[in-house]
Order: sequence, then C-alpha cells, then structure tokens
Amino acid sequence: MTKTLQAEGSTTPMTIHSKPIKNSRGGTGRANLMQSVRQHRPQTTGIDYTTTPVTEIYGSNVFNRVTMRSYLPKSIYKAIVSALDNGERLDPSMADIVANAMKDWAVEKGATHFCHWFSPLTGLTAEKHDAFITPTADDKALVEFSGKFLVQGEPDASSFPSGGIRSTFEARGYTGWDPTSPAFIMEGTNGKTLCIPSVFCSYSGQALDKKTPLLRSLEAINKQAVRLLHVLDNKTVKRVSCTVGPEQEYFLIDETFYLARPDLINAGRALFGAKPPKGQEMEDHYWGTIRERVLAFMMDAEHELYKLGVPVKTRHNEVAPGQFEVAPIFESSNIACDHNMLLMEIFRKTALKHGLRCLLHEKPFSGINGSGKHNNWSMADDQGNNLLEPGSTPHENEQFLVVLTAIIRAMNKYGGLLRASIASANNDHRLGANEAPPAIMSVYLGDKLAEVVKGIVTGKVDGQKAKRVIEIGVSMLPEISPDESDRNRTSPFAFTGNKFEFRAVGSSQSIAWPNTILNTIVADSLQYVADAIEAETKKGTELKKAVQAVVKKVLTENERVIFNGDNYSEVWHKEAEKRGLPNARNTVEALPALVTAEAKALFTRQGVLKEDEVESRYNIMLEAYCKTINIESLLTAEIASTMILPAAIEYQHQLASTIVLTKSAIGGAQITAEEGMLRDLCHKISELHNAIEVLNSFIKGSKDDENGHSDVYTHARYYQERVITAMNEVRHAADELETVVDDSLWPLPKFREMLYIY
Ligand code: ADP
Ligand code: MG
Repeated sequence: MTKTLQAEGSTTPMTIHSKPIKNSRGGTGRANLMQSVRQHRPQTTGIDYTTTPVTEIYGSNVFNRVTMRSYLPKSIYKAIVSALDNGERLDPSMADIVANAMKDWAVEKGATHFCHWFSPLTGLTAEKHDAFITPTADDKALVEFSGKFLVQGEPDASSFPSGGIRSTFEARGYTGWDPTSPAFIMEGTNGKTLCIPSVFCSYSGQALDKKTPLLRSLEAINKQAVRLLHVLDNKTVKRVSCTVGPEQEYFLIDETFYLARPDLINAGRALFGAKPPKGQEMEDHYWGTIRERVLAFMMDAEHELYKLGVPVKTRHNEVAPGQFEVAPIFESSNIACDHNMLLMEIFRKTALKHGLRCLLHEKPFSGINGSGKHNNWSMADDQGNNLLEPGSTPHENEQFLVVLTAIIRAMNKYGGLLRASIASANNDHRLGANEAPPAIMSVYLGDKLAEVVKGIVTGKVDGQKAKRVIEIGVSMLPEISPDESDRNRTSPFAFTGNKFEFRAVGSSQSIAWPNTILNTIVADSLQYVADAIEAETKKGTELKKAVQAVVKKVLTENERVIFNGDNYSEVWHKEAEKRGLPNARNTVEALPALVTAEAKALFTRQGVLKEDEVESRYNIMLEAYCKTINIESLLTAEIASTMILPAAIEYQHQLASTIVLTKSAIGGAQITAEEGMLRDLCHKISELHNAIEVLNSFIKGSKDDENGHSDVYTHARYYQERVITAMNEVRHAADELETVVDDSLWPLPKFREMLYIY
C-alpha cells in the first residue's frame, strides 16, 4: 500500500511505502531508515526580510546600548557606557535601576523568567531559571527584578566540576553579572527567558568557570600592552583589548541516521565505520553549491543568531562530505566567546527543527577531515587601532615589530601551554592528521616578514630590502598583503596580515580557555619586552636604539619557533625536535605543561589564575579525558558485542546453511567459494571476539584501584596507553567485518550513507 504525503513546508508530494522493506531473514535493516530520510524536505520558517529587514532584526533580543539608551535614565546610561568603555567597575547603586530597566524590556518582549547564564568547567553553558512573578497580598502577581538578583545568583552548584577546589560541604558557587557582555533573550517554543551573562566563582572567590580567567587575562593584556605602548611613547592610548573571530566547522547528518547510531548519540562520534569508498578525494564538496535543505537550516540558524546580535558573516561547504563552516565578524574577546557558545547552541537546536543533527565533535568520522575552530586573534587600542597592523609609517612599523617580537617570545617560551589549552580526547584524533596543524607549536610569518626578522637577527644587509628594514623605527617595512601571508594552511599559529590565526582549537570546545592562555602568555611577554626597553632607556640609551637592541636580542633568543614550511612534513618534525620544540602528541603528554612551577608562576604573575585554580583546571581536564575514554570504551564493547557480532553471526549462519543445503541438494557439489567466505568470516568474527575480550579486561583494569591509579594522571595514562589501543583493535576488526557482511544485515548506518544522504 502506498500513500502520497506532503512534507511540512514542501511543495513536492512524495510517495511513502507504508510497509517496511524486509531483508531476506526478516530484519528490517537500514532500508527503512532510508525511507524515513526521504521524507525530509527543506523546512520553511516564514522568515521574510522584505517585511522585517535584517537590520531591524539584528540585536532585537539584546539589551544592548541602543536598548539601554531608551530604557535607562540618561545619567545612568552615560555612567554605564563610560564604565564599560574604560573598564571600570559599575557603581553598585545603579544595579537596581539597571535591573528594573532590563526587566521592563524583557517583559515587554514576552519573557517570564531570567537566569544567570554562565560557563562552568564542563565546557558547556549552564542556566537556572527563575520567574519574574511575585504573588501579592490580594492573590495576584506582579513582575519583579531587583539589583540584588541581577548582580548575584546562588545556584545549587555542588554538581559542577571544581577539580578539588570546593568540597561539597561548602558547595555554594556564586554566579555574578558580567556587565561587559550584554544580556539577551533566549526564545523557546513556549516562552522567553532573559539570560544574564555571568561569571561563576566559589565562596572564597576562586574561579569555577571559563569566563573569570578570560576576563582576568584580558585585564593582564590591557595592563601590559598599555604600559608597553607608553614606553614606546604612544602615550594617548588608554586601553587595549583583544579581538577574536572564531571560524566554526561542523557536520550535519540526517537525524534518522543519528538515532540509529548509539555511538553518535552517546559519544558524539562514530566509534565504528569503514572508510567510505568515496571520501573527500574528489574535492567536490568544498565551497560547492549548498544543498537546499542545508541552506534552509543555515538561514534559520542565522536568523536566530541575528536576533541575538551575533554577527555571522560567512557560510560554506567545507572539505569533508557533510561538513560546513560558519564564521562571524570579529568582536571583542569576551563577547566573541559568549557568542560562539550561543552559536553552537543555536546550531544544535535549529538542526533538530530541520530533522538534522549538528555534530560539533572534532572527529565524528575517522578517515575524513575533522572539525576545528580557527581562532583569529589580535589586539586593538581604544582608538580602534589594530596592534598587529604593520602600519604605513616607520613609527607604526616599530610598534608592530615590538608587539610581534613579544608574541614570538610568548610562543617560544610557552607554546606548550597553548598546546595544553586545546588538549582533549576529541582533539587528539585531529591534530597532526592531514587536516589540522600538528601538535608542535610554531609561528608562521610568511616570507616577507620572516625575511625582516632574519635581517634583524643577523644584522646582515641582504640587498636593498633588508637594508630598509633592519633600522627599526627609521626605515619602512615592505608592504605585506594579507593574501601572500596566508598561503600556508598547515601552521598552528599563522600571521595572516593583521592578526594571528590559532588553528589548533577544537570545534566543540569553548574558545575561552585557549584565549585565556594566549592572552596570558602574550601579556607576560609584553611586560618582559617593556621592562627590557625601559631598562635600556634608563641607562640613557635613546629609545629607538633601545628598541632596536631589545628586538634584536629577543628575536635572536626566540626565532627557533618561527617556521614557514610545511608543518605536516616529516622533515619539520625532525627539525622541530632538533630545535627543542615540544611535541606533545596527545592530551596526556600535553596537560602537565599547565602545572609546571614556571607555568604556575606565570599565571600568578599575570593575575590570571592562582596555583590552586591552575591545579583544579589540570585535574578537570584530565578527568574529562578519562571520562570520555571510559564512555567510549564501554560503548565500543557494547556495540561490538550486541550489534556487530550478532550481525556477523547471522551472516555466518546464512553462509553455513547455504553450504549445507547446497551440498544436500547436489551431492558432491564443489562450493569452495562459499566455504572460503565462511572460513574468512569465522576468522574475522574470532578476531573481533578476541579484541572485545581484551578491551573488556582493560576496562575492568581501569576500574581496579590495584592497578596503581593513585592519581588522575596515572589513570589517564592507563586510558591512553591501554584502553585506546584496545578500542582501536575492536574497531579495526569490526570495520573489517563491515566490508564482508551482507549489507542488509549490517546494523549501523554506514559512512557512505550518513555523509551523503541528507
Ligand atoms: P579566512 O581565514 O577564512 O581566509 P578571513 O581571514 O577573512 O578568512 O577572516 C577570518 C576571521 O578573522 C573572521 O572571523 C574575521 O572577522 C576575523 N578577523 C579579521 N580581522 C581580525 C582581527 N583584527 N582580530 C580578530 N579577528 C579578525
Ligand atoms: Mg581563516
């Protein structure tokens, strides 16, 4: 029986078979999934930018400056803007007035609840909603929101990770309003909530979130950069902040496939799956025409993001099949981080509306490209000047070269910390594979700038060009166009004309932590360079000469971190080793960099994290690693035992029966082909079975205290060395089976389906 349906929002009627298609042995198999996927057509949302122009929608759910101006008394508005612009504390007496204005605005927009929206160390955002309503004596209700509730919340926070900082008997963590990131309204299907970006700290003030250290690191950058600029005689600058533009990669697959894959549901990545016959080798996906269904999703998500004032700018197909990218216009660091968290949430939510799933995992499908987040980063002063803009006068060049020198020193001295900042079980699958930079932190400058640095270091005049550049502050830099500086896509930290692009960040992670580390190490080097220049000038050296001497010395000491070649090549890996650059191949190797005495001193010196706060983050990252591998290993064992082995055994049964039946039908029949297939299958089944047994024994071992897992680091090493290896063996054996078992019996959607059918 067939019937004709019209999918929601679709103009094309389609035919649906109401009877599930059955395979030979009665299993309904994956064929039915395909039927279900076929039902999906692009979803319309009714967005019409001719009736409501995008400029009107943009920021309409944000308590931004425009909104504040119309809801706040003029004097309060002015005071707030001035506090925000100058990085000053807000006068607490204003809290009540601001809270009331925020509430009026939110209630007019239809909000019934408010929440402090924060980022605990889970890596996700958290929120606890409270209603605005308060019952009155005459059994009615009024809406209320006071400064007290705006400024501080007290969630029951005992279940957030604290890495040992906060024992449960004093489990209270406090959320506190971050006025530098504007409040916004989140729309749900049945109502709206006012969200107040907040920090999250323990009773005694220790940071329990990602935002607090980021804000502290921005203060460190501000302090050290302003000081350096003043030392360089650029005295009018009052503030320096960081700018960030994170490019976000992601996969979309049809929800039907997703729901048939317990690994995607629970681990976010496919733990099994043979490489598809067609991968990304045709290079036909990158920047290809965006499919209608995907474009409908993108436009819907963008519409939601516009309302939240997230400046999403570009969208395109990425390299891998089923992979896409979205990039916003850069913003000040703290807001860029909040907006990236919102973007990931809106993408997940909107995908559901379209019958899709948005996979943000760093490596959902092995064998094809994973997803990252290119963190474009720079510093800007309060007059809007980009400190990484080489400039067009010798004086601007001088400032640029000093700042660049500081960054190169930061990368050389503390590259290991930056590496640790993006370490996770997920990102381990991606770094160093032929798609993402390797784990060795180096700096790419492009040919021209590298030549300038070389000229400064060697003092050698190599023709006209070098002559022009080595006299810092006197002569001009050659012009560096962004195009020629961005040819090398293999570098983890590339100068791209007027910013650095940190390319090792994972797609699912919050950018707050990598930016915190980046800001901290750069702030420290800005301080170092300022100290050194000041020490020279105090001796009576002329400023230009002092700058020249310091830049030369610091570049000479740190130039080993500069590398302009192919970061994937074996040659570089050997060369990097010779240069003494660390190469932490995985999370377990990378994380200890965070807790060296040197690192702790750095964090303390820059006022970003105290020792116990560093320790707690280190512990949490290791714990997260163990938990991830634990979940994946349990899932691997379960799926292999309960889904893949049974399918293989079913096929074994079919083959064996065929052989027996054939032999009895035709006495003395030669059926060597089937016998060979059966033997091969039996062999592959026993390989899988053995691999599962080994994995199970290691899983058991991971729980065993007797195995000497006295601390979380030893535990993590065990997972890294034993459990992951055993998981890989199971996968290998299962993927081998996938290539021989009857397709209609295979229980999991295959890569060739998931990545292409949507
Ligand atoms: P691509 O890297 O894909 O070639 P672009 O270099 O044009 O693209 O920009 C990538 C990202 O870099 C965008 O999000 C952009 O807003 C951001 N960006 C540009 N200038 C800066 C800056 N000064 N600071 C931080 N991010 C920036
Ligand atoms: Mg880029």
